[in-house]
Amino acid sequence: MIHILATGGTIAGEADPTSGGSRYKAGVRPVGALLASVPGLAEAAEISAEQILALDSKDMTPADWLVILAAVRRARLDPAIDGIVILHGTDTLEETAYFLHLTLPAGTPVVLTGAMRPADHPEADGPANLLAAVRLASSREARGKGVLVVMNGAAHDARHLIKARTSGLDAFESAEAWTAAQADGRFADLDVASLPRVDILPGYAGAPARLIDACVTDGARGLVLALAGHGSVPASWLPGLRLARDQGVAILRASRCAGPVTRNANADDDGEGWLTAGDLPPPKARIALMLALASRFSAAETQALLLRP
Ligand code: ASP
Repeated sequence: MIHILATGGTIAGEADPTSGGSRYKAGVRPVGALLASVPGLAEAAEISAEQILALDSKDMTPADWLVILAAVRRARLDPAIDGIVILHGTDTLEETAYFLHLTLPAGTPVVLTGAMRPADHPEADGPANLLAAVRLASSREARGKGVLVVMNGAAHDARHLIKARTSGLDAFESAEAWTAAQADGRFADLDVASLPRVDILPGYAGAPARLIDACVTDGARGLVLALAGHGSVPASWLPGLRLARDQGVAILRASRCAGPVTRNANADDDGEGWLTAGDLPPPKARIALMLALASRFSAAETQALLLRP
């Protein structure tokens, strides 16, 4: 049996095709209606389903990731369930997928999918994506690969997948083939009521250093710097970053370009006590740092986690 966890998104969205998109709302159709719209689903697998959230994924929070993780852990305890499919909005799909990838050990396959067109679109992509996700979650090939994603006829692994384009059915891409992926789950023992706050600060021409202090004063325990080029830190940020570091805030250099950001290249990471993101994009580096802080990793352990392929 394949268990579906519905969280909302455009796959459950409606736009009223005559409105030109102005009446678009994600996450309005209940999971039962979504399943009923998929031809061939009953032949593909026996299905059970649960509506755990009904969100536009732009509004998803780390607290929601913990809700999803708890639902997956529960479903994995049921020996009748052979695979789990999560229906999710595409905006932050890669974040939830990577969070689950780091917190779920190898076991019952977990496959996320969503849609770029709402459910009431005449050529909605949600039904085909849902069917493909059920098939992948039922397959032998999905085992041991960690959390997977299916969109537009292609599978991806959670670590490498990014939403690369704002629109179009081919919005997602990955730098590596999913078939080479391996389950991770190094935070499988995570047992927290909330995750530590980590903020992302964008680097751009003239970015004010006072943003650093604003984040720290507001409670951030880590800062991911989404910097230009090879993680180039503006000189005007140095005093603020040193102050934050001295207050125990973890500072992580990442790039707004495709990676990698290499340690001690283009910056004195050892001298400043900074971490580097390797090839992880800022939103995923943030998740790794949140989990490392929650699990009280040392700086060396956190750096090793960030650089692991
Ligand atoms: N804003 C929507 C969401 O992320 C977009 C989508 O699902 O495609 O929920």
